[in-house]
Amino acid sequence: MIPDDVIEQVRDAADLVGIVGETVELKRTGADYRGRCPFHGGTHRNFAVIPKKGMFYCFVCHEAGDVFTYFMKRLGMDYPTAVREVARRVGITIPERSGPTAPDPREPLFAAVATAADWFARQLRESPEGDIARQYLESRHVTMEQAQVQGLGFGPRGSGFLDAMKGLGLREEVLLDAGLIVKREDGSKVPRFRGRLLFPIHDLRSRVVAFSGRVLGDGEPKYLNSPETPIFHKGQLLYNLHLAKHGMRKAERAILVEGQFDVLRLTLAGVEEVVAPLGTGLTDEQAALLQRHTPQVILLYDSDDAGLRATFRAGDVLLRHKLRVSVATLPEGEDPDTLVQNKGAPALEQALKDSVDVLERKIQILERKDFFGSLPGRRRALDRLLPTIRAAADPISRDLYISRVAEVTGVRKDVLQREVDPKQEPAPHYRPLPPVAALPSNAEKSLLLLMMQGEPWRQRVIQAIDSEEIEFPVYRVLFETLADDAPDRLDETAARAYESLQAEGLGSDQPDALFERAVNQLEARRLDREIERINRALPFASDAEKATLAHEKVRLAAERNAKRPTYGIIQSARRKGAPGP
Ligand SMILES: [Zn+2]
Repeated sequence: MIPDDVIEQVRDAADLVGIVGETVELKRTGADYRGRCPFHGGTHRNFAVIPKKGMFYCFVCHEAGDVFTYFMKRLGMDYPTAVREVARRVGITIPERSGPTAPDPREPLFAAVATAADWFARQLRESPEGDIARQYLESRHVTMEQAQVQGLGFGPRGSGFLDAMKGLGLREEVLLDAGLIVKREDGSKVPRFRGRLLFPIHDLRSRVVAFSGRVLGDGEPKYLNSPETPIFHKGQLLYNLHLAKHGMRKAERAILVEGQFDVLRLTLAGVEEVVAPLGTGLTDEQAALLQRHTPQVILLYDSDDAGLRATFRAGDVLLRHKLRVSVATLPEGEDPDTLVQNKGAPALEQALKDSVDVLERKIQILERKDFFGSLPGRRRALDRLLPTIRAAADPISRDLYISRVAEVTGVRKDVLQREVDPKQEPAPHYRPLPPVAALPSNAEKSLLLLMMQGEPWRQRVIQAIDSEEIEFPVYRVLFETLADDAPDRLDETAARAYESLQAEGLGSDQPDALFERAVNQLEARRLDREIERINRALPFASDAEKATLAHEKVRLAAERNAKRPTYGIIQSARRKGAPGP
C-alpha cells in the first residue's frame, strides 16, 4: 500500500486544471474553471473544475471527484495506478512494491459505499419521495446546486435502495458489512437510512466511507451515522477534514463546529478550514488528527449551556494534544448556521476574530456567575479551572494558565503548580473503561438514577453537581449526556450502561433521601481530596505555611465529618418532601 502522506503529497502537488485541460478546453469563471463534460459529452460548459478544493463536478451527469478519481473514471485505472500516474506527472517517486501485492480486501466496501452515494444523490435530485428532502433544504436556504456539489443525498423509505444495489451487482453481505443495510430479527433486510437527508463522510483520501443521515420530520435519532465498519472508524475521522485540511494549512487554524449543517453553511460562506466531530464528543484520535494539520483550533459551538459543556470538553481534549484552543462566542440564540444566514459571512468572521482563549472563556463565565466573590465560590471555581490547566500539555500554555488562575483565585502559583502535577493526578480521561457488567453501585449511580426520573430531578442534580465530580468514566459520560438531554449521543458502552440503569430504576428508595445522601457523599469525597492535597503539600511548606495548612485541614475535616451520611440527615431530607424548583 502507498502511505497516506505520500498520497497527500501527490494530490497537493497535482495540477487538476492542467490535467483536465489536456483533453477538455477550460475557461476561467471566477474561482472555478468550466468546460464541456468529458463524461457525458455535452455541448454546454456544465463541467466545473474547482482548484481550491482540488475537485471536479458536472452539473448534468453529476460525475464528481478529485484528481485520482478523474484518472480512474476517464481511463479505468484502479486507485493505486491512478496515484502512481499522477505521482509520475508531478515528479514524486513512489517506492516500488516488492513482489505482487494482494488487493486491499476492503475494496468491495469502498465500491459499495461509492455506488450508494451516487444513488442517494440521484434520489435527492429526482425521486418524487425526495421532495421532502428538497423542501427541507429549501427551508434551510440551501440550493440544489449547492447540495449537489457537497454530494448530499436522500435515502428513501421502502425497498428501492436494496433492489437498486442488487441490480447493480452488489451482494447483500457486502451491503451489510458496509453498514448500508441492517438485518432485522426476522431475518429480513432493510436499508439503514430511511427517510433521511444524507451527508457523505469522506476519509483523508477523499473516498466516501460512511453517511450521516438527518431525520426529515419527526423521528429519532435526529442524526444517524453509519456503524463502525472496516472502512469507517468514526472516532478517527472528522467530517469535512478531507477538504478542510488544505484550508487549515493556509489559515493555520481549524474551526470546529458541532454538526454537518454548520460545516455546510461555513463552507458556503467561503470558510474552508471547518470540521465537525461525528455526532459524539471529540475523541483523542480526532484531536491528534487535527494536530497534524494545524497549531490552533477555534471552537464554534452553540452558546447555550449544553453547547458550553461540549465546548469545554472538546477544549480539554485539544489542549492535551498541545493545540492552542480558543472559543468563539455567538450572539444569544444564534448557532453558526443561523448566524451566517441572518447576518452574513462578515458577522461570522467577526465572531472568529473575537474568539478568546478557552481558559479565559471559562474565567469569563465564572466571573459572570460571581464565583470569585466568595471563598467557597473561589474553591468551586478552582475545581472547574484545574481540569483545563491539567489538560494543557504544552508547557508554555500551562505556565500561562497557572499564572492566570493564580491571579483570579488568589491561590499562590507554587501551590497551583503542585496541584496540577500530572504525575500525582492523571487526567481521568486516560483511565481505561471497565466492562459495563461491573457497574459500581454508589452515590454517582444514585444521582444518575435520579436524573433519569426527568424534570425537576434532572435540573436539581445538575445544579448540585459538576460533571467533574463524577469519577467513574462511564457515569461521567452518562451524566454529561443526561445534563445535555441528549442520550442519543452515547457510545456503545455508555448506551448499554444507560439501558441497564433504566431497567434497574429507583426501586423503593426515597428520592429525596437518596439525593441528600449522594450529594453529601460526593461533597465529602471532594473534601477528602482537598485534605489529601494538604497532606501532600505539608512537607514542602515553610513553617508559617504549615500553620495555615494545618488550620485549613482541621476546618476541612470538620466540614467533611458533617457531610458524612447520618440517620439525622436522611430523616430531615424525608421531611422536606418533593424536590424544589
Ligand atoms: Zn457530465
